[in-house]
Amino acid sequence: MVNQIGRPYTEKIAVIGAGPAGMSCAYYLANKGYPVTVFDRNPVPGGMLVLGIPSFRLEKDVLNAEIDILREMGVEFKCGVEVGKDVTIQQLRDEGYKGFYLAIGAQKSSPLNVKGDDLQGVWGGVEFLREVNLGARPDIGKKCAVIGGGNVAMDVCRTAVRLGAEETYVLYRRSEAELPADPDEVREAVREGVKFRYLVAPAEIIGSEGRVRQIMVELMELGEPDAKGRRKPVGTGKYEFIDVDSVISAIGQTVDWGELDVGALKTDKRGLAQADALTYQSAQPDIFVGGDVLTGPKFAIDAIAAGKEAAISLHRFVHPGQTLTMGRDRRVYRELDKEHALVSLGGFDTDRRQEPGYNEAKAKTFSDARVTFTEEQVRRECARCLGCGATKVDEYLCIGCGLCTTKCKFDAIKLKKVRDWHAGAFETMPIKVAEGLVKRTGKIIRNNLNK
Ligand SMILES: Cc1cc2nc3c(=O)[nH]c(=O)nc-3n(C[C@H](O)[C@H](O)[C@H](O)COP(=O)(O)OP(=O)(O)OC[C@H]3O[C@@H](n4cnc5c(N)ncnc54)[C@H](O)[C@@H]3O)c2cc1C
Repeated sequence: MVNQIGRPYTEKIAVIGAGPAGMSCAYYLANKGYPVTVFDRNPVPGGMLVLGIPSFRLEKDVLNAEIDILREMGVEFKCGVEVGKDVTIQQLRDEGYKGFYLAIGAQKSSPLNVKGDDLQGVWGGVEFLREVNLGARPDIGKKCAVIGGGNVAMDVCRTAVRLGAEETYVLYRRSEAELPADPDEVREAVREGVKFRYLVAPAEIIGSEGRVRQIMVELMELGEPDAKGRRKPVGTGKYEFIDVDSVISAIGQTVDWGELDVGALKTDKRGLAQADALTYQSAQPDIFVGGDVLTGPKFAIDAIAAGKEAAISLHRFVHPGQTLTMGRDRRVYRELDKEHALVSLGGFDTDRRQEPGYNEAKAKTFSDARVTFTEEQVRRECARCLGCGATKVDEYLCIGCGLCTTKCKFDAIKLKKVRDWHAGAFETMPIKVAEGLVKRTGKIIRNNLNK
């Protein structure tokens, strides 16, 4: 592919990890014309989007179609290659790679650390989901306990239902009010028959002949708030036994560094990579880092945004003499001041989201049972949009040059002449500006009084 100055870039870039962060970085670099190779230790690309999120929430053909676009753009995927073990970063340097994007995610489930967590039938949530997404059907028996209350726990318990568990429990150590999972996911889990037990924490997993038979849980109560303001669960010293055939833990994820030869690359006390907050450059100048490996488990869109920023950094890095920082968006956001906003907030933040329909025929299968919005629903959903004023023209600033109409890729901006007005002579400009200032101030005051 030829870049904007008419020649292909020749600097080879290695992306380590084919999750959303790595693929986004590869996309933006390939778009510029760089030769990009993406290495992934899994047999297929996609990271957690393909091997974490279950297909009943995100159909894989949609993702694979997106990944095919990267292939068509010339990105080379080398799957089944674990960097650090099958090939080292130093070997890749020796092969001529000039820059690296390390986007290996947070691929390992945090351990339960209770007696019996090594029994057969005990799984880590993300490892379990990976197996299922790769087509395996692990034997979890008829009764399954899922530990944790986040979105991963919801994906795990709903997957357990699909694997034939007749009784699936979610065991959460705080109360229902603190449950961090998305309410929509909780509702789906309840609809599918999952039972929620609150204020219980695993104390021991009991087995016989090497297999899980029971889980002993400690009953908890809520104590003082922690640093984040959430009340801490405190053990009561009372215990209960629940008969189960399997236990799947979904209490968090950590980075699996494996044998990666990251050398001087620094990690924090949680084992996450450290890098410059603006450029994502690590302590090793040719290695840039991003996605879950840097932030800890977050959302796909954060990883995608991080990949884009890393592509900008790598593009500059491979051309010595370029600054990595100048002109970069520091993404400092301020919360919308709803009290004093000059635009109509209407139903924003108050109207309920539209709910997709449900195809009963697909209930409890690995296909997505949600149905696409009807036209009416799309209209209502769009009506919830915050009228942010982006389409309002500031009459005192617009000089009618029409440049904006040429910039909008969707041809959404149209310029219409509404009055035949010509600027006055230069000498009279201060008076005109003063007139405008008075009018505008009056308008702002009127708007505020009418609120
Ligand atoms: C069960 C689950 C459900 C989720 N649901 C949602 C959701 O609904 N919406 C949402 O926005 N986000 C969701 N997330 C979060 C989202 O998937 C992650 O934030 C995102 O995938 C992180 O992207 P990443 O590219 O940083 O890492 P990952 O997606 O984890 O990708 C990392 C890749 O690096 C590869 N890798 C690791 N080590 C090596 C190595 N040494 N050599 C080569 N390759 C390596 C891995 O195989 C993997 O493919 C979910 C996560 C999970 C686990």
